[in-house]
Amino acid sequence: MKESALRWTIDDAATLYSLSDWSSDYFDISPAGEVEVVAPGYETPVRISLMDVVSGMRERGLDMPVMLRITNILDHCISRLNESFARAIAATGYQNHYRGVFPIKVNQQCQVVEEIAHFGARYHHGLEAGSKAELLVALANLSSNDAYIICNGYKDEEFVELGLRARQMGIKCFFVVETPAELQIIIERSQALGIAPLIGVRAKLASEVDGHWSEDSGDRSLFGLSATQLIDVVDRLKAADMLDSLQLLHFHLGSQIPNIRNIRHGAAEAIRYYVDLAREGAPMGHLDIGGGLAVDYEGAHNSDAHSKNYSLDEYCADVVEAVMEALDPLGLPHPVILSESGRATVAYASILLFNILDVTDFEPGPLPDTCPEDASEQIQRLFETNAQLGYDNIQRSYNNASHYRDEMRELFRRGQLNLRERALGENMYLNIMQRITAMLPQLDRVPQELESLHETLSDIYYGNFSVFQSLPDTWAIDQIFPVLPIHRLQEEPTRRAIIADLTCDCDGKIDNFIGGEKTIPLHALQDGEDYYLGVFLVGAYQETLGDLHNLFGDTNIVNIRINSDGSFDFIREMHGDSIADVLSYVEYHPDRLFEQFRDSAEQAVRRGVISARDRQAIMDAFSASLRGYTYYET
Ligand SMILES: *Cc1c(COP(=O)(O)O)cnc(C)c1O
Repeated sequence: MKESALRWTIDDAATLYSLSDWSSDYFDISPAGEVEVVAPGYETPVRISLMDVVSGMRERGLDMPVMLRITNILDHCISRLNESFARAIAATGYQNHYRGVFPIKVNQQCQVVEEIAHFGARYHHGLEAGSKAELLVALANLSSNDAYIICNGYKDEEFVELGLRARQMGIKCFFVVETPAELQIIIERSQALGIAPLIGVRAKLASEVDGHWSEDSGDRSLFGLSATQLIDVVDRLKAADMLDSLQLLHFHLGSQIPNIRNIRHGAAEAIRYYVDLAREGAPMGHLDIGGGLAVDYEGAHNSDAHSKNYSLDEYCADVVEAVMEALDPLGLPHPVILSESGRATVAYASILLFNILDVTDFEPGPLPDTCPEDASEQIQRLFETNAQLGYDNIQRSYNNASHYRDEMRELFRRGQLNLRERALGENMYLNIMQRITAMLPQLDRVPQELESLHETLSDIYYGNFSVFQSLPDTWAIDQIFPVLPIHRLQEEPTRRAIIADLTCDCDGKIDNFIGGEKTIPLHALQDGEDYYLGVFLVGAYQETLGDLHNLFGDTNIVNIRINSDGSFDFIREMHGDSIADVLSYVEYHPDRLFEQFRDSAEQAVRRGVISARDRQAIMDAFSASLRGYTYYET
């Protein structure tokens, strides 16, 4: 092979991290080896380097970790959802339109919801509220009466009254009945106020789905009305002379549905409910297909839980066709199709950025050429095993080395070997294991026992972030997110690692990567140089589900907008929680902590342990820490 064919290029990096498979064309690698955001929506794609954004943050005094949101991507994700449904509708001659609603629970952050309301206005994109708090957010943010507000979740009188008042203002606010009990409240309150409600019903489908959220579907699903309960709703509305309020059928099969067949199947079942409710005399006119539109986190284009086996266009076309196939033979008019797509709307726009603080590797330190004469027998044997290691005895060498290492540890436990001797033996053992790992790729068949040896020996990269605060789903449901260095990609990464966070929790790590890998290739750290990683596609569900484990608080947040000339603006900056903030969340009073500690310091002055001047310096340090960021500051 010629040398040029062997040289590492940015294309190799793109392949290694499957970039083009999951990036949805929003991310790329520059010739200088930096991850770029490719701003969509301009005639010629505009690219900016994430490293330039990071330097901009540094100059503004914003420390890592940072949640970076790119408004151009959010804008584009809303457009493409609406445009894709519009295309499917035009192509099939469907006789009604699509209206999206963003489920606020997927990302409740004020800036995100405001941007969705703003960017979505041209499509009359609405909001879905699952609680009173979310309804207040929805009411305050939507300006167009053509956009829908869909109220799911349990609704008490206050919730219902608020929704009815919105109705009075002409807002298209639907109550989706999820339990028989809340229908009574809706009937009573609307009769008392003399305001006709818009009512939907959530059907509990028998169709089940693959993927992580399969329990949202099927007979035992927590939500929705059974066939019997639906008929009961119809009868009670008829009795109250309110059947004309029943105008929507809702179903939700679960989030992140990887298999298009489940979606088609669910839609086909749901539309049967729709047809029969119409036959019962309800005006209907709206079909709300819920969430479930998946994100291909792994870029595998298959029906695995973190992937999806369909494109957005296929999703839209399948839904529209399923509705037409059921209604056209019956001559029933086509309803407005609504979807509550949350994940697919916001996932792409957010990136978690953090720096690496330190690395632990499992490389052997320097070893003497020959075994010290006075070394124990076990250590002598380890040296021999090392000297004899060859391709013809790999498994045997592995077994021997492990055996002598275990014996050596036993001697240490019994006090017959000292710490210095044990260190020498462990070091030689590591040396043998590293040599074996390096030889394995040359073998035709790797012994099963040795297959995961490289994982056992992989590095631990310590990242300046908290899994529990910023990536809770990696911990809670083994969610896979794409992770990669955002620079140095013109260089071949020579290390394999797992990523640990700052918490003192053994679950505080990322050790599940695209393609079922337990480790990720990374670059060796360089002295005096920061090394930055990005975790991508984290805009859905992560920010508010996160918690304060070890009292690491909200990260800094930066929203940027990329302009057509390649410049970008920091449109919003929010400093993350200070230590005083997180302490107050768990009911401490920072002022009181300060006073308590000052009393201790004053007593130390009285005892002559420190001077009054020392006390001043100590208290300054205490109050600076209270004001500081909860993460590692540089
Ligand atoms: C969570 C939820 C959604 C959002 O689902 P995605 O898969 O994120 O689009 C939509 N509707 C309901 C009722 C939900 O509970």
